[in-house]
Amino acid sequence: MTVRARFAPSPTGSLHVGNALTAVANRHFVDEHDGVLVLRIDDTDPERTVEGGIEAILDDLDWLGVQFDEGPVRQSERGALYTDAAERALASGAATRDDEGSVRLSAGGTTLLRPDGTSTYQLASVVDDLELRITHVIRGSDHRPNLEVQSRIARAVGGELPTVMHHGLVLGEDGRKLSKRHGHSSIGELRDEGLPPSAVRAYLEELGLPEHDVHLDLARLRRLAVDAIAAMSDEELTAAVGAPAGVAPVLRGARSLVEAKEYAELVMTPPSAELPLDAAPTLERFKELRSSAPERLSTDDARALVRELKAVGGDLRALRLALTGAPTGPELAAVLAAVPRQEALTRASRA
Ligand code: GLU
Repeated sequence: MTVRARFAPSPTGSLHVGNALTAVANRHFVDEHDGVLVLRIDDTDPERTVEGGIEAILDDLDWLGVQFDEGPVRQSERGALYTDAAERALASGAATRDDEGSVRLSAGGTTLLRPDGTSTYQLASVVDDLELRITHVIRGSDHRPNLEVQSRIARAVGGELPTVMHHGLVLGEDGRKLSKRHGHSSIGELRDEGLPPSAVRAYLEELGLPEHDVHLDLARLRRLAVDAIAAMSDEELTAAVGAPAGVAPVLRGARSLVEAKEYAELVMTPPSAELPLDAAPTLERFKELRSSAPERLSTDDARALVRELKAVGGDLRALRLALTGAPTGPELAAVLAAVPRQEALTRASRA
């Protein structure tokens, strides 16, 4: 029997980190079993549906590299399936319709259909798990309390719930529910912080299927970001920050893609800076050395040039200011390697 799992977010916008963990865990499980992952959008509740919410989720999954094999299946388009299922439960006596028109389970009273005929999350989720022939449900432990009632609903509509596994939730570093207030609760926020997608994915894979709740480990995420940037090719790295290929050496010391982008901007379009008056000899010496060197310096040649300037007591900070407009930033030799000769001479003269 083919393993079939589903990832079933509500379209509330960029994925919560905990939801992203659910997505990655489902993909991982499916890959291990040569199975199929269905993307289901739980959009029956208008309060949990925001404009652009589905697009944000699709973007996040794409960014994380989590592929799905079927879907997106939208619950809002499947109302007839839910009413049919409720009719079956009514026919068998497993459900009853009350005076207001709600359909409820006879045992326990859980609402299946509202008086206006729309389905509750509980019924829609169960019907879809059956109808989409889901074999395994992997979701956050916040849904553990639903298990019992969902089993009853499954039997009431003539089926059996798939195997359900719950994983621990991702909490903030302070142990509280991870929320907007923490500033890094969604995939969109991690992306904006400049964490490479491979780092976020690696972190979520590392968490696996936590049995208990875990605290988001930002330090670990940031270390993985450094590793991920180191593992990127020059082409990948410059493409990720929208910089020309020659700038790659400058970006190597950056700890995030945001920082890498700042570094790229420093060498491409430096802000102007005030230079100390005594910087002139250093800049003159630099111009001599640089004009007799090739158009493009290798990082090794650039390091040699920096050493030479230093040996004669050159003011390296002044050179950095002249070339990048900033007192600190990427390795000076990398800047020299990234800025072609004429541009370097112009900046030194202008300063
Ligand atoms: N739509 C639910 C959520 O986003 C998931 C329901 C489920 O996995 O059963 O939490």
